[in-house]
Amino acid sequence: MARVYNFSAGPSMLPESVLNRAAEEMLDYNGSGQSVMEMSHRSKVYEEIIFGAQSLMRQVMGIPENYKVLFLQGGASLQFAAVPLNLLTGSGKADYVVTGQFATKAYQEAQKYGEINLVATSKAQTFSVIPDLDPAAFTPDADYFYICHNNTIFGTKWPELPETGDVPLVADISSSFLSEPMDVSKFGVMFGGAQKNVAPAGLTVAIVREDLLGRARKDIPTVMDWKQVVDNDSMYNTPPCWPIYICKLVLEWIQTLGGLEALKARNQYKAKLLYDFIDNSAMFTNPVRPDCRSMMNVTFVAPSEDLNNAFVKAATAAGFVNIKGHRSVGGMRASIYNAMPVEGVEALVAFMADFEKKNG
Ligand SMILES: *Cc1c(COP(=O)(O)O)cnc(C)c1O
Repeated sequence: MARVYNFSAGPSMLPESVLNRAAEEMLDYNGSGQSVMEMSHRSKVYEEIIFGAQSLMRQVMGIPENYKVLFLQGGASLQFAAVPLNLLTGSGKADYVVTGQFATKAYQEAQKYGEINLVATSKAQTFSVIPDLDPAAFTPDADYFYICHNNTIFGTKWPELPETGDVPLVADISSSFLSEPMDVSKFGVMFGGAQKNVAPAGLTVAIVREDLLGRARKDIPTVMDWKQVVDNDSMYNTPPCWPIYICKLVLEWIQTLGGLEALKARNQYKAKLLYDFIDNSAMFTNPVRPDCRSMMNVTFVAPSEDLNNAFVKAATAAGFVNIKGHRSVGGMRASIYNAMPVEGVEALVAFMADFEKKNG
């Protein structure tokens, strides 16, 4: 069996041991005589999976007691609307920092529901930095302050979180989820699609501070109302049963690796291998200001479109797949999420060095 090194930005690689375990349990989960895909979400056997996944998420992330873990559907994109629908009911105002394409989408979606203030944007720098913030531009009575923690397409990450005082910080963590320890108490809400680092596509996770529940607009669709979701144990309607099961296996895998601290060290090591090579290369460059570089999505370009295309083609043929940059930016992007082994990054660096030698 030949497995490729898959640098896809999402859906992306899952740990091989998780896939093997799921394969072993496919036809008969834990003596139930059924696969997880087939069982009732109201059954005892499934309750152990969903509640087990929630409680493991709390353990692994160190989630404080006064936060709830919600399993949702509709992707991070549905949360772009769910955030204002759930929270924009005090002053009706919110602050947004626009650092890339997903932050732009969230900002545009929120404008349907209230008075949205653009605090800062790095659009003029083609999103190659996280912009400096002027606290004088913050709205003191905002219902929340919104950021995208890791910008998947442009390969940037917030070097430190903004200080928003009593205004709850809301963060899209789709592509930095479970990549390193995060101080949950600094956030009002964190949410992300699971398909980058946590599970297959179909599951969206939100972590919501309790005092932010119950503020939703009266006309919010019930399935989007975080309080309804919590009151129904994330089973107001049928949950994405299979992705939640894989999420549980991924969390168990993280525990066996030594938790998020150990994972962070491994992720930093992988990212450094790649950035160090790029910084010393005469062919490849990374456009991101070093203090804003993402640990998960490493973008790079060669000096010409022809070379970019030749690189992607040669890399694909050599088993490094999905390494083409996002269609809106071009170039290359290596997404090196948790499940990408160190050997995958080492092999990519060796391949890049060889390509440079032959084509430089
Ligand atoms: C992938 C991604 C999204 C979109 O997620 P969907 O689940 O496709 O809606 C949003 N934000 C970030 C940061 C992402 O990486």
